[in-house]
Amino acid sequence: MATVKDDARGSQQAPIRTGAEYIESLRGRDLTIYLLGERVDEPVDHPVIRPSINAVAKTYDLAVEDPELGGAVSPYTGGRINRFLHIATSPEDLVMQNKMQRRLGQLTGTCFQRCVGMDAFNSLHSVTFEIDEAHDTGYHERFVDFVGMTQQNGYVVGGAMTDVKGDRSKAPHEQDDPDMFVHVTRRTEEGVYVRGAKAHQTGCINSHWMIIMPTLRLGESDRDFAIVGAVPVDAEGITYIYGRQSCDTRAMEGGDIDAGNAKFSGQEAMVIFDDVFIPNERIFMDGEFEFAAMLVERFTCYHRRSYVCKSGVGDALIGAAAAIADYNGVERASHIRDKLVEMTHLNETIYSTGIAASYQASQMKSGVYMSDDMIANVCKHHVTKMPYEIGRLAQDLAGGLMVTAPSQKELDHPEIGETVRKYLKGRTEVSAEDRVRVLRLIENMTMGRNAVGYLTESMHGAGSPQAQRIQIARQMQLDFKKALAKSLAGISDEAADEVSGDLADYMAKVFSPVAPSCDE
Ligand SMILES: Cc1cc2nc3c(=O)[nH]c(=O)nc-3n(C[C@H](O)[C@H](O)[C@H](O)COP(=O)(O)OP(=O)(O)OC[C@H]3O[C@@H](n4cnc5c(N)ncnc54)[C@H](O)[C@@H]3O)c2cc1C
Ligand code: SF4
Repeated sequence: MATVKDDARGSQQAPIRTGAEYIESLRGRDLTIYLLGERVDEPVDHPVIRPSINAVAKTYDLAVEDPELGGAVSPYTGGRINRFLHIATSPEDLVMQNKMQRRLGQLTGTCFQRCVGMDAFNSLHSVTFEIDEAHDTGYHERFVDFVGMTQQNGYVVGGAMTDVKGDRSKAPHEQDDPDMFVHVTRRTEEGVYVRGAKAHQTGCINSHWMIIMPTLRLGESDRDFAIVGAVPVDAEGITYIYGRQSCDTRAMEGGDIDAGNAKFSGQEAMVIFDDVFIPNERIFMDGEFEFAAMLVERFTCYHRRSYVCKSGVGDALIGAAAAIADYNGVERASHIRDKLVEMTHLNETIYSTGIAASYQASQMKSGVYMSDDMIANVCKHHVTKMPYEIGRLAQDLAGGLMVTAPSQKELDHPEIGETVRKYLKGRTEVSAEDRVRVLRLIENMTMGRNAVGYLTESMHGAGSPQAQRIQIARQMQLDFKKALAKSLAGISDEAADEVSGDLADYMAKVFSPVAPSCDE
């Protein structure tokens, strides 16, 4: 592999391995960040931002503590790297991504932010290869070089796909303001300048690099919007507008009960690109508009099954619901048990479809493996519904105190504290504080900070529900299914096994004994 220049942190640094090293790597970057109307000098020390950094730090610590789960061996560097930077060389690699995601959901109870970059890496591996094939460009080698550089340094890479989009009924070139979609404003011998804004960017401030990608299918008039490139998070011209999360300022009040999950949170921000330069060696698509749809579809194919992360978060929420039932003295009631069974059933349904999409993978021309698109979309579509039902059942078991409990300041108050604790008791042997802590956690996950990740991100992240229905509709093979029915009902003369002889597309993957190649 070519030697790569590390232009995000200066060359010759040791790779980032542990969570603590990662947190240190974020210091002193002089990013332009606005939060609650103020410039943030050092995000690492900001009480609202720090829990989101802690969540990413867990992805490093897991790779150290459980290298099989959190790490992988890179075909590019030959060394052990963080799994979030790995290009999938087999279906098992994809399955291991899902297992890692579930584990990290359990450990953090929130979004740990690194999957968008991981899924962008894997989709760009095949797309850059196929653009080169069609246009005789050199994107794939550049891209692989970039991947190797991030692996050597142990970086966090964010994926910036979603544009702010303006009027949703108009294509990028039709917008009154072209900045509604990130686009190239100027080209020089050395590279391009881009302008526009990306919305809802997960973990962007906690990343070292961001990959900018188009967000939808593009036509010839959208050529300048067909840009894919990598920029360091601290590149000149970038401004971050931090997204508010429900109850986020509880992190600024002191104490650790009211926040619900004081250690971990997700992070989203709007990223504004004001003529940001991307050098040629970091450009992976420029003008090949006909490949934008392929990139979006392949990215979402990986990302929609990455949402098994929610099954890990769901494990923690089911645990919280079981704990509060126990603290309230009702854990043996049959309807409580039944609701915990229902929550588990829903949670495992999410996990099952995600992992099935990974198992039913195909090898692309570039050599990377890609998950199954139909099942990945089914997984994500479940995720737009099931966490809401799991959350509803958790709130049922929690009781009303989840939303009426007094603050930690009353619990700790020198005059009223003892009385408050007396009346907040459930079972005698459980402290009032523990009871409130678990209620606050359920509040946090179903209507507080981490409901952003558990609920609304489940709805819209990787595309709103209709986007999955479109993909499912494309692949449902109704003619094939009608032919089966007509054969069995005696309407057609064709025997059912003759109909099956036409197995193609999705069905071909279902019955393929080994991971097939998509492109054959
Ligand atoms: C917490 C969170 C984290 C995220 N993280 C990332 C990230 O890291 N990187 C990233 O790139 N993106 C990220 N996203 C963005 C996510 O992919 C988008 O939210 C999603 O694609 C929906 O886009 P939107 O939010 O602009 O909603 P909108 O486009 O405004 O959609 C709202 C509704 O309008 C419908 N709609 C939209 N356009 C049309 C149309 N043309 N015709 C008919 N109906 C339409 C939708 O189906 C939906 O029901 C994140 C989102 C969330 C909520
Ligand atoms: S929502 Fe889940 S898949 Fe997306 S970045 Fe967060 S943890 Fe990963």
